[in-house]
Amino acid sequence: MNEFEIIESYLSVKGAKRKDVLKGIGDDCALLKVPRGQRLAVSMDTLISGVHFLPDSNAADIAHKAVAVNLSDLAAAGAEPAWITLSLSLPEYNEIWLQDFNQGLKRIVEFFGVQLVGGDTCRGPLSITIQAHGFVPENVFLSRDTAQAGELICVTGEIGDAALGLLVAKNELNVPPAMASALLKKYQTPYPKIAAGIAIRGRATSAIDISDGLLADVNHISQQSGVGALLRWERVPLSQAAQSIDDEALRMRAALTGGDDYELCFTVNEDELEATKTALEMVGTDCIPIGRLTGKPGVRMLHHKEEIQLDELGYQHF
Ligand code: ADP
Ligand code: MG
Repeated sequence: MNEFEIIESYLSVKGAKRKDVLKGIGDDCALLKVPRGQRLAVSMDTLISGVHFLPDSNAADIAHKAVAVNLSDLAAAGAEPAWITLSLSLPEYNEIWLQDFNQGLKRIVEFFGVQLVGGDTCRGPLSITIQAHGFVPENVFLSRDTAQAGELICVTGEIGDAALGLLVAKNELNVPPAMASALLKKYQTPYPKIAAGIAIRGRATSAIDISDGLLADVNHISQQSGVGALLRWERVPLSQAAQSIDDEALRMRAALTGGDDYELCFTVNEDELEATKTALEMVGTDCIPIGRLTGKPGVRMLHHKEEIQLDELGYQHF
């Protein structure tokens, strides 16, 4: 099969066909229409075999995750996803792999009503780059640099499961089968919190998605906003599976420095907390305050009123 046949057979994902796509896959460029009164939010992420997923991962899960991590960035900006482009580097033509990839891709783009409008395909080490495009109404973009001291720091759900799921995938964590599969699911097929991002528009004062690890991502908000953060370990929500792990150091490491959860972390003025909780409840999402922004620079964490030493802040490529 040549490059064009691969694109035609496996990558021209039918399904979500949007009216704002004037020209999709097949031409030199896609031609797209941004609705009046909206801004275009754009984000890109790459998944490399052996770095972002285990080389023997299921291709449908890889496709899901590649799209999900990009949609998660849109979610953190309060944007509504519209289009994606896909740059795929494949080591070989593998029909089964491509069929699985196609299925995973189709499922997630259909679910979120997103259309794949173009991309590039070449031979090389397995790597998937996606660029996601979404709309956000004028003046409601959620940034990282707009938080202020005194505001509450909240998360949308349980933290640390993805890092534990990675350990399960590598056979480095022994937990009962039902828990293993819950943890694996969070690592392999994260769910981007799009509806939550839209629900906190106009209420949250800043937001980020948790991809590098809770501390690292809170640190991004705190540094870019020029404030400090004081978190409380007791308040960080852990799943039942995570709570069942006896090794507290491991639980802490997973929740604080493990990445890949793709929950949202956002800040909100205390007066807006109840309204924000209600708005998130409507979309089936928790809103859990885990600390507060302060005037003292840096990210600190209390454990039963004692400050704990935080030496590593999360995943970094270099
Ligand atoms: P060009 O030579 O103009 O760069 P390509 O041969 O790379 O075009 O691609 C042909 C068409 O197929 C283009 O519309 C491009 O956007 C689309 N395409 C190529 N690879 C992918 C992919 N991995 N996913 C989606 N669309 C793709
Ligand atoms: Mg090309």
